Amino acid sequence: MTTISNPLQDILATIELTKTNANCPQQVTLLAVSKAQSASMMREAYTAGQTKFGENYLQEALEKQTELTDLAIEWHFIGPIQSNKTQAIAQHFSWVHSVDRLKIAQRLNDTRPKNLPPLQICIQLNISNEVSKGGVAPQDLEELASNIVSLPQLKLRGLMAIPAPTNNVHEQRAQFKQVRECYDALLAKGFVLDTLSIGMSGDYKVAIEQGATIVRIGSALFGSRLGLTKKDTVTNED
Ligand SMILES: *Cc1c(COP(=O)(O)O)cnc(C)c1O
Repeated sequence: MTTISNPLQDILATIELTKTNANCPQQVTLLAVSKAQSASMMREAYTAGQTKFGENYLQEALEKQTELTDLAIEWHFIGPIQSNKTQAIAQHFSWVHSVDRLKIAQRLNDTRPKNLPPLQICIQLNISNEVSKGGVAPQDLEELASNIVSLPQLKLRGLMAIPAPTNNVHEQRAQFKQVRECYDALLAKGFVLDTLSIGMSGDYKVAIEQGATIVRIGSALFGSRLGLTKKDTVTNED
């Protein structure tokens, strides 16, 4: 029995229980957020059955990818994107959850290798209006979505959001509900979407009740990151 197996099974069981209790019709996928976790820890999680992993920092992810080439991992990029990193992201990931402006979408499209399937995209939505955080404002969402749909090497799947952290379940629910309403508004306009990437370790049950189809879970699965996260050096930020 690997050390990661118990928390993994617990989270998967909690996801199912939450769906049952709230009568949720949607499928919910667990994305294991492995930033600041070692390649060997990821290998353990993979051996325990987890195949989808989310990474925030390109350099760290690329190093782990070279150690894990023998595993059929589906790699998701979920961190802030600098424009000088778009080519490597387009080459080395299947999904990007954190697209929040057209320039980045265009560069991902232009550098996505033609022999690979389209890059699966979520637009990151900023519902908390914090200037410091990533994400497109709700009023600019539809235009960005329309532009992304016209890019052939990208496939728009849905929305991602990181609400302001709070332990208050009512506040969690209100924030996820806002994301859900923006998602439903796009569906009503005719966009074909199937992905709502909301919910992290502290709030994924509430996110599932509000329609999450991907929950991005790090610390509840791997334990705390102990401040080990190694950030890419910020150069040439646009
Ligand atoms: C770190 C991170 C997570 C996981 O957070 P936990 O609270 O450890 O589950 C999810 N999404 C994004 C974008 C992150 O940066």
